[in-house]
Amino acid sequence: MPVSTPGLHHITAIGSDPTRNYRFYTDTLGLRLVKQSVNQDDTSVYHLFYADRSGTPGTSMTFFPYPTANLGQVGTGQATRVQFLIPDSATDYWRERLAAADVDVAEPFERFGDTVVQFQDLDGTPLEFVAREDAPAGDPPAGPVPDEHAIRGFFGVTLSLASAASTIPLLEAMGYEQTHDSPERTRYRVGDNLGAVVDMRETPQGPRGRPGAGTLHHVAFTVDDEELPAWRELLQEHGLRPTTVIDRKWFQSVYARTDGGVLFEFATKAPGYTVDEDLGTLGSRLVLPEWLEAQRADNKAGLPPLSSPSS
Ligand code: ZN
Repeated sequence: MPVSTPGLHHITAIGSDPTRNYRFYTDTLGLRLVKQSVNQDDTSVYHLFYADRSGTPGTSMTFFPYPTANLGQVGTGQATRVQFLIPDSATDYWRERLAAADVDVAEPFERFGDTVVQFQDLDGTPLEFVAREDAPAGDPPAGPVPDEHAIRGFFGVTLSLASAASTIPLLEAMGYEQTHDSPERTRYRVGDNLGAVVDMRETPQGPRGRPGAGTLHHVAFTVDDEELPAWRELLQEHGLRPTTVIDRKWFQSVYARTDGGVLFEFATKAPGYTVDEDLGTLGSRLVLPEWLEAQRADNKAGLPPLSSPSS
């Protein structure tokens, strides 16, 4: 049995226009572009990684922005909302900042003792801030958002499933324990790291999720480097059909579609985003794993430039 996961490693979503995506997550949300690469399974498309200053696991929101993507449907069988952790003193700052950027912001409400502010990105990807007194100082990027208000990383993720019955034992085997329950959602948590929460909603009557822009593609959990094979076995023991171990250059990964429909990934901490770039220049140029370097010119030709926020 592997030791429990510390929580989320990254969450990956499908977007549309890459430049708009880049501007929203850097200019508006103040995250750092820590890796600019291509989707290794479809190299005609960017893979953009946003995170804290140093790309810490548990802070990394990533996108496959397909310029011509159709909008998807957020719904049952998907991860349906990204939860970002902010300090509880930052709620008003963010409401004003988002409103100033013409982002519709819902009225704050309280959930399990925390203030929650919900909004969407420009493709309709459901996001929320969870404001908490115990938000760690974190490692905020230099950028437009003052450190005191900066997104710390993930708080967690919400899954919407027709039935949570087979996902609960899997989460429990991953180290998660139930901490809260309400008619709308049940909360599972593992420790107190960034990205430690999985909220489960049972929405059998809701619209069925359909992939496309504005939907979440998969949810990745952090695992110890040498334990990835053991996690793969654990997935098999739960009746799932994991992939082999895949080298993603910045981490090694195993994927499995859970019975509820959500694609889970187990990703190692090492070697991390600084394996091929210095910390100071992370994300400033297109980087490709060595096995894709031969087609760099082809890849680059098809990708629109990500104009810098200040230009
Ligand atoms: Zn991933």
